[in-house]
Amino acid sequence: MATGSSRNGPVLASLSVRRAALIVILCLVAPAGWAQVPAPSLVDGDLPPEEPRAAAPAARPAEAAPAKASPAPAPAPEPVQLRAIEPVRSTWEGVLEAWRERRRAIREQDLPGARAAAARLLDARKDLAIDDMPDFAASEVRDAERALAARLPADAAEHAELAVRLAPDLADAWLELARVRFARDPSMVGDVATPLWAAVRAGAREPHTSRAFVADVLAAALAALAATAAAVLALLFLRRARVLFHDFTHLPVVRSLVPLQAFFLLLVLLGLPLALGLGPWAFLAGATLLAWFHLPWRERLLATVALAALTLLPLATGAAARVTAWTGSLAEEVFELEHGADGGERAARLEARADLPAPALAAIGRFHKRRGDLAAAERWYDLAGKAGAPAAELLVNVGNVAFLRGDVEHAKAAWLDAADRASSPVTLAAASYNLSKLYLRQSQLEQSQQARRRAELLAPGFIARHGSDDDFRANRWIVDVPVGEASIERLAAGDPTPAMAREAVRARLAGRVPPRLWPWAPLAFLLLLWVAALLARRARRTVACERCGRPACPRCEAQAGPLCGQCVHVFQRKGLVEPRDRERKEAQVRRHEAAVRWTERVLALLSGGGGHVWRGQAVRGALVLLGLGFLGFVLLFWRGLVPPPHPSPFVFAGKLAVTLPLGLALYGLAVRDAWRRPRD
Ligand SMILES: [Zn+2]
Ligand SMILES: [Zn+2]
Repeated sequence: MATGSSRNGPVLASLSVRRAALIVILCLVAPAGWAQVPAPSLVDGDLPPEEPRAAAPAARPAEAAPAKASPAPAPAPEPVQLRAIEPVRSTWEGVLEAWRERRRAIREQDLPGARAAAARLLDARKDLAIDDMPDFAASEVRDAERALAARLPADAAEHAELAVRLAPDLADAWLELARVRFARDPSMVGDVATPLWAAVRAGAREPHTSRAFVADVLAAALAALAATAAAVLALLFLRRARVLFHDFTHLPVVRSLVPLQAFFLLLVLLGLPLALGLGPWAFLAGATLLAWFHLPWRERLLATVALAALTLLPLATGAAARVTAWTGSLAEEVFELEHGADGGERAARLEARADLPAPALAAIGRFHKRRGDLAAAERWYDLAGKAGAPAAELLVNVGNVAFLRGDVEHAKAAWLDAADRASSPVTLAAASYNLSKLYLRQSQLEQSQQARRRAELLAPGFIARHGSDDDFRANRWIVDVPVGEASIERLAAGDPTPAMAREAVRARLAGRVPPRLWPWAPLAFLLLLWVAALLARRARRTVACERCGRPACPRCEAQAGPLCGQCVHVFQRKGLVEPRDRERKEAQVRRHEAAVRWTERVLALLSGGGGHVWRGQAVRGALVLLGLGFLGFVLLFWRGLVPPPHPSPFVFAGKLAVTLPLGLALYGLAVRDAWRRPRD
């Protein structure tokens, strides 16, 4: 009633005053005959004035009961001449026909023909209550692109606007509209911003898009985590390789070997986990174990975090897959059945399945109802009810079918019952909205307005999108309750993908380690490392000489300290060594310093954060590695792991626009750090 009344507001207002007065008078004077109120005056207000009123009956088979016209002003209680509800006339074949007609007209440059076909398509979309026609919209988006490339901005705008109307939940359609408007007039910021914001909202609403987005983010984050953990552990090991090799040669059996033999023995030990097929986790853990006693506390903590992250990676992957699983799941099928457009293949595919859960059954019922097959709708609603579909939601939809069949009393009872039981605002709003329409037809204006107000208060967006006052088609005049998003999403949880993803990652990491030992055995290993570190905290071990980098070994050189024996002799006890030897040592120190500096710089150039890890700023280095790794993997997975049915041309550009500046800035800072920072 409120919608569309701005034009003739005063007329309506005066009408309702007159109507109220009439009702009062009639109620006083002729209580039995109050239905003689020229109730159509209210319907009049809703109707476009030029609507031919008498055209209604006879031609419309699924006419509602109160619409039975009785032209003679008989004393019967039903003289109200109401406009009949129009049954669904459009068919999927008609939709395809309109689409083919539009394509043909566009090919033949027949602009009026193309527009007429588009109007027919949009009309059929409304008649069949299809939310989105993404296939057609994607095609229009491509046409808009082509028109832009051919410098025909007006054509492009027409295509983009049609795309948006065909599939309001397709983010690409809105993005294309924004792009077209920007190409036409870049100064109209508002005109561009509106579709951009609509694109964001559509993307968040549409699970293909939103879940693909979350999947890309999580996949990049997990891949970056794995790569960073491996890189940090490798660098921590390599940085200590020289001193740990020196201590290795002091071990009982190794002591008797020549250095080359000892070196190969160390390599064999290092490669043993891989040779045994225990996987990369065991390899990295082995390297960490060898370097463990030479790491400072902070780096031990970092190594533990890295190994723990790798240990929990399979679980995290499973959780990420659970949050993002969509394509191929039952949830996708049901969602598409509820929102998308197809020729009934999807419904047939679902119907052929046994043990369908209640949301799927309810969606099948609503599909048939929207296509006008009321008997099939009732059958499936019945099955959904037996399978435990939410009673209130189902009651509204069952009431709608009854109403369309002409069984008004049954419909009213169902809606009232639904309103009593409804727990979600949308259900209560739909029941109230439909009741308001029914009261209107029964000329109970007060009740009608109350119910209508309640519906609009409860779910204004839902009523605005699905309700309609001057459209008397079966799928428009009263509103259905769609299957709830939450219950559709729960169907995705039954998907086997998360378990498969978890197991795949575990198998990659753990190789032949028995699955039941994961993650407990690795976590126990980490605990043992810490116990060993605490027990051995007083043990003397070789350190790298602060000046020349040679191993400064307490066993070989009978002194413990930050300097090796040579450096102590040359630099601390002056006058003991020949000047020539001293110069040679000083040259060695300079070479060592240059080597360290250049290793840092090369690592910084190669990886950004590797230079920091090498210098000893391991935590900061790990964070830089993680950040760059994330941005890099976002770009590497540029197609997306599970691309939506219509791969978006905007995705790669969007990813590039976000990641490239951030990545370059972070990389530049890390490299600059490696060049500028004086060594302490
Ligand atoms: Zn030294
Ligand atoms: Zn030694």
